[in-house]
Amino acid sequence: MKAVTLLLAAAAFGAQANHDEHESHGHGHGAHEHGHGHLNLVLDGNQLMIELQAPAADLVGFEHAAKNDAEKAQYAKAMTQLKQPDALFRLDPAAGCTLTQQELNAPKDDHDHDHDHDKADGAKDEHHHEDGHADMGAMYTYTCAAPAKLTGLEATLFTVYPSLEKLSVQGILPTGQTAAELTPSAYKLSW
Ligand SMILES: [Zn+2]
Repeated sequence: MKAVTLLLAAAAFGAQANHDEHESHGHGHGAHEHGHGHLNLVLDGNQLMIELQAPAADLVGFEHAAKNDAEKAQYAKAMTQLKQPDALFRLDPAAGCTLTQQELNAPKDDHDHDHDHDKADGAKDEHHHEDGHADMGAMYTYTCAAPAKLTGLEATLFTVYPSLEKLSVQGILPTGQTAAELTPSAYKLSW
């Protein structure tokens, strides 16, 4: 079951991985669009994976390394919010989903940032792009007691991140592959 899950995850996240690769090799079409986030979902057996990625401008409020105490506090608050997916997504309680793992994907803080630039010119922090843009996000894994009752998700994160206007969703679900666009007024995904 684990191997199947990983294969599905690789398929679902492939598009996103390519996107990242383009961004890290300088720009072209790769620059992200503020207000536009991505959500990847995989529901396999009793395991649900949700990957969120969005511009740091929307999740934190800025994309540069925090420069002062106010920005450091703002950054810390954003990290805390990302660690509380209950406020970001609503899953039907009947499905009995419990968060079993979470992995944050965020730009390094300013200490590491300076250091990295000193020691290796070519090896840039992958989340801070050359044009000053930065993405951040997280991957959440849930185990669901009654996955058949999980027939949708509500993206309540629009109330947490008011500048976020759109979430492009890609999913691999028991009903097949899905692609959708969620907005603050259409934040419910059903499958
Ligand atoms: Zn940006």
